[in-house]
Amino acid sequence: MNLHEYQGKQILQQHGVVIQRGLVAYNADEAVDKAKRLAQETGTKFWVVKAQIHAGGRGKGGGVKLAKSIDEVREKADAIIGMDLITPQTPPQGKRVHKVLIAEDMYYPGPSEPSEFYMSVLLDRATGRNIIMYSTEGGMDIEEVAEKTPEKIYKEPIDPRVGLRPFQCNKVATNLGLSGKAKKEMAKFVAALYKAYEGCDAAMFEINPVLKTSDDRIAAVDAKVRLDGNALYRHPDYVEMRDKSEEDPIEVEAGEAGLNYVKLDGNVGCMVNGAGLAMATMDIIKLSGGEPANFLDVGGTADAARVEKAFRIILKDPRVKAILVNIFGGIVRCDRVAQGVVDAYKNIGDIPVPIIVRLQGTNAEEAKQLIDNSGLKVLSAVALQEAADRVKEVLA
Ligand code: GDP
Ligand code: MN
Repeated sequence: MNLHEYQGKQILQQHGVVIQRGLVAYNADEAVDKAKRLAQETGTKFWVVKAQIHAGGRGKGGGVKLAKSIDEVREKADAIIGMDLITPQTPPQGKRVHKVLIAEDMYYPGPSEPSEFYMSVLLDRATGRNIIMYSTEGGMDIEEVAEKTPEKIYKEPIDPRVGLRPFQCNKVATNLGLSGKAKKEMAKFVAALYKAYEGCDAAMFEINPVLKTSDDRIAAVDAKVRLDGNALYRHPDYVEMRDKSEEDPIEVEAGEAGLNYVKLDGNVGCMVNGAGLAMATMDIIKLSGGEPANFLDVGGTADAARVEKAFRIILKDPRVKAILVNIFGGIVRCDRVAQGVVDAYKNIGDIPVPIIVRLQGTNAEEAKQLIDNSGLKVLSAVALQEAADRVKEVLA
């Protein structure tokens, strides 16, 4: 589950991470009120108006603006709220901004220059360990740094048996070129950040930039936080942080129907039971010259109602040119699934794309006969290769 910047920062702060403070506003009047309140609470002279959408790169798209007066806060909040913000991470048409974070300005002048670092915490699947990834090249595209100067990205793996050790926090601070107070503050920041990561069962933290202020404080200026959806039951207070309006509406609908659906960019819809078989089916689609339009695991109980719902969801994607149904009847009987396909087809009415059905396992023979005798535009296949060939035929 992805969070907005202000929500991520809230969680960081709960765990003792120093953040750029801010207040959320839904319109220009509220932005002005919040800016005044923030100035009282923090003493900030300037403000940053930051669009809250689930995408990074907001600064580049004009969604992060410095305001040097209350009038400018009003003006900038007014311009940003309601805009369709386009960044390298949004869909091409952008994302509508409904709220802004009015944040304190942390790039104030002082004894030294402010500097920006990059830091993320995530699971390294290759080693099965959490790592802290960090770089002196903060504030910019980390993808570009990774491509052009990979030596500037450090990785600190964490041994799960002992957790993050203090010497590792110091090492991070040293590698970032810090000394004195800034180094101490950075070591504290890293320790708190990792504690927060573990404490909220995060799937990913990306803090870009982590800022060293001109007076050597260290703070999270941005926060991209992804929580592990499977651990949400341990954090009932985080559940309400979900903003469904930021998610793909078809995925939300599928989730509510208990279907495990992920939209992809291809042209062949697939309906499968079991995540492993779904992955294999997507491979087959690719091998037969198609591109999967989605991942869809209907789960163990592929009954008529679920099959129908799954068809309806797949068909919402206008790019779908064919649908491959690949079900293994272990617990569920294939003839019941086949009946489900036939019923769904009749209920939905005219399905405009060919459907290829492969049912294997219990009562597969009966299932194939049901499909073949249905008189519908449904092609049956027995072997996986046969299914793949049929996909190829209908795409040709
Ligand atoms: P992103 O563009 O979505 O990654 O949003 P960020 O929160 O990282 O902000 C983008 C950029 O705005 C930062 O890299 C900074 O250069 C700038 N910025 C953020 N906060 C402040 C601030 O407090 N003062 C000033 N002057 N600039 C800021
Ligand atoms: Mn950022």
